[in-house]
Amino acid sequence: MKRRDFITGAAVGTAATVLSSGKLVQAQQAPAAMKDRVEIAVVTTWPRDFPGLGTGAQRFAKRVQDMSDGRIQVSYFAAGERVGAFDSFDEVASGNAQAYHAADYYWKGKHPGWAYFTSVPFGLTYTEFNGWVRFGGGQELWDELAGEFGLKGLMCGNTGVQMGGWFRKEINTVDDLKGLKMRIPGLGGDVMAKLGASPVSLPGGQIYENLVSGAIDATEGVGPWNDEVMKFYEAAKYYYYPGMHEPGSMLSAGFNKKFWESLSKSDQALIEAAAGMENDVMMSEYNAKNGAALARLRRDQGVQLRKFNDDIYDSFGKAADEVFAGVVGHSALARRIHESFVKAREEIGGWSNVSDQAYVAQRNRVLGMSS
Ligand code: CA
Repeated sequence: MKRRDFITGAAVGTAATVLSSGKLVQAQQAPAAMKDRVEIAVVTTWPRDFPGLGTGAQRFAKRVQDMSDGRIQVSYFAAGERVGAFDSFDEVASGNAQAYHAADYYWKGKHPGWAYFTSVPFGLTYTEFNGWVRFGGGQELWDELAGEFGLKGLMCGNTGVQMGGWFRKEINTVDDLKGLKMRIPGLGGDVMAKLGASPVSLPGGQIYENLVSGAIDATEGVGPWNDEVMKFYEAAKYYYYPGMHEPGSMLSAGFNKKFWESLSKSDQALIEAAAGMENDVMMSEYNAKNGAALARLRRDQGVQLRKFNDDIYDSFGKAADEVFAGVVGHSALARRIHESFVKAREEIGGWSNVSDQAYVAQRNRVLGMSS
């Protein structure tokens, strides 16, 4: 065979192979959306359709699928549908699932640094928190911590300032906290323990039954919009504010690190955009709905709104300092996270003081707005 004939024959042979292989032909004709298909199983710490936290996580999952026109398939599992709420961490770190949507402070038992990436006592508000994570070194420290567990976290929602909690009796002195069995997760629970209370960490879906049965005496929840749905007012009428323990709780989309790194740059960018959007949208919804819900709770359910007094707040502050001293003693990374957080609180919080807070205080004073 002459060389030219061989080349021609080879070319014809290749074409015939493609045409005779159903699989190859099918792959060539498949719509663009099916190429590079990605499947993500998301487990969460929230009950299905739970307002804000659950619906926000579900909205994020749907947005990723919609933005990719279905090429990225997201299977969403509410708490208990695939694994229990608090098993979400191991499910994703192990690679059984690709992602979770959760409050990272639930993992403080694995490392206290996790608490800083939800919220800590005397911590940052929503806008302050975003400033720290995006421009104050927070994301880099979060990546370092999550990396130690084979994870990668993205900001994916925020509740804003949470209420102090639901109590069956008035809390007028620190003595009123002693012996109180209270559902309060994160480092806020440690602060309560320093003051003589017994903190317990329960997933949101299990609080009501424990409060009604008397297994716990008090609970913090989120804010009026969520807490109204949870019907905590049926078991406790005193609703305290403001919560020192969660001044701007960020919810995270946590990915298995190996899975995250296997994604294309464009898929990472798409998911980051979807998560960043949810970070904003969830906060907008809480801000839009909390006020009306609080008014309904007071008007229709006989809820008594109470403000923690300065003496109690001073005690919270002292106890928080003791808790933080324990955190920085945990490890070099815990210390670096805490120091970065403190720097952000001073710098960004100092600016908040002369901007948002100073303005709102004057606006509300002039308009005669009260709680
Ligand atoms: Ca809470």
